Amino acid sequence: MVKTRFAPSPTGFLHIGGARTALFSWLHARHHGGRTVLRIEDTDLERSTPEAVQAILDSLDWLGLDHDEGPYYQTRRFDRYREVIAQMLAAGTAYHCYCSKEEVEQMREAALARKEKPRYDGRWRPAPGKALPPPPPGVAPVVRFRNPAEGVTVVDDLIHGRIEFDNRELDDLVIARPDGTPTYNFCVVVDDMDMGITHVVRGDDHINNTPRQINILAALGAAIPRYAHVPMILGDDGLKLSKRHGAVSVTQYRDEGYLPEAVVNYLVRLGWSHGDQELFSREEMIRLFDASDVNKAASAFNTGKLRWLNQQYLMQADPLRLATLLRPHLAAIGIEPEDTEHLVEVVKAHVARAQTLVELAEVAAYVYREFDHYEAKSAKDHLKAAASAPLRHVRDALAALPEWSAAAIHAAVEASAAALDLKLGKVAQPLRVAVCGRAASPGIDVTLWLVGRQPVLQRIDRALA
Ligand code: GLU
Repeated sequence: MVKTRFAPSPTGFLHIGGARTALFSWLHARHHGGRTVLRIEDTDLERSTPEAVQAILDSLDWLGLDHDEGPYYQTRRFDRYREVIAQMLAAGTAYHCYCSKEEVEQMREAALARKEKPRYDGRWRPAPGKALPPPPPGVAPVVRFRNPAEGVTVVDDLIHGRIEFDNRELDDLVIARPDGTPTYNFCVVVDDMDMGITHVVRGDDHINNTPRQINILAALGAAIPRYAHVPMILGDDGLKLSKRHGAVSVTQYRDEGYLPEAVVNYLVRLGWSHGDQELFSREEMIRLFDASDVNKAASAFNTGKLRWLNQQYLMQADPLRLATLLRPHLAAIGIEPEDTEHLVEVVKAHVARAQTLVELAEVAAYVYREFDHYEAKSAKDHLKAAASAPLRHVRDALAALPEWSAAAIHAAVEASAAALDLKLGKVAQPLRVAVCGRAASPGIDVTLWLVGRQPVLQRIDRALA
């Protein structure tokens, strides 16, 4: 059974790169009918915060990336790590090293002076026939992993293919600090082993950790998972994605009015494709995605494409759901509609005119309140003196309508145009600008109907004044 995990370090919000890793890991499991694990790697006590944990959980929840197990917290597993360290010491696959910080620093400098890669010289590494010095008194030792001295460690990566590491290049890694606390790579190994992870999908910034982790797993007699190291995401300028490029946290996209299904669809296409298909339902992604199809090269973030996708999903979405999602964005600009049915109609009429919910709130705001100013160009083109006759005419026609419906409004506007011997647009455009403050809106009948008779008449009067 395939089992993947997502293992974020809660040192900040979930950024777009992390979300994509989470998605790929989740999809790989779901595609193979497997299980997913969420593991919070919070051993860096100084940088991990409960707020960051919450932000990660909220983001995953918003994206709909559920997990079958967890969240596990590494800080709650210290006893288990200590137990494995004791086992390894007993088995001779790990050993105590009493080097002081100064000694390790000297080794480093000596290696650099020889133009070699700094590495631990194996001073306390036991070997047959080798006499170790007596432990210096009062020194708390670190525990080091006894890395294989020779041979190569092969990472058969699902994305990058075969990568070989010379074991002589790999240090005897410190797995426990002098105070007994386990180090990062060691916790990952024990967890992947205990949690039965079969596929590790993670960022390719971890590639260099992988041979070390594989060697420790092998020393523990554990099964070695398959690895899929996902390339990074670059900004559209080719530089590593960062705040400079705009939003980088998942929650920020939520707050800017993106739909989770659009973000997920966008993320799946960052480094993965299926022909030239752009829109994928969740079921399609699950059916088609396999980590081994992910592109080796880094992918570039493209906000324009995300916006386009979001618009596709906005237009497909249930208007009642959008109405609910739109409320906070309307509230942010001081609008709190009472009538949900009416709001749903507002959504339907305007959804094709916005790429985000924030924009939808902006384009529909005129329905609810008088705008402050006419868009300069519209006012100039459509509210000049020549428009006052048609405006006056249609105002009276609208005021006299026995019922306020889109059909009746449509008929009134047409009748005014006919009476004045004008094309429909010569009446509808000034009317639109008078009521919406700009030259673009949904059909004039629906627009006026949504705004309501009294506000419509007031706005026409204002335009004529
Ligand atoms: N905690 C690591 C990170 O947030 C991921 C480690 C892993 O997936 O093995 O980058």
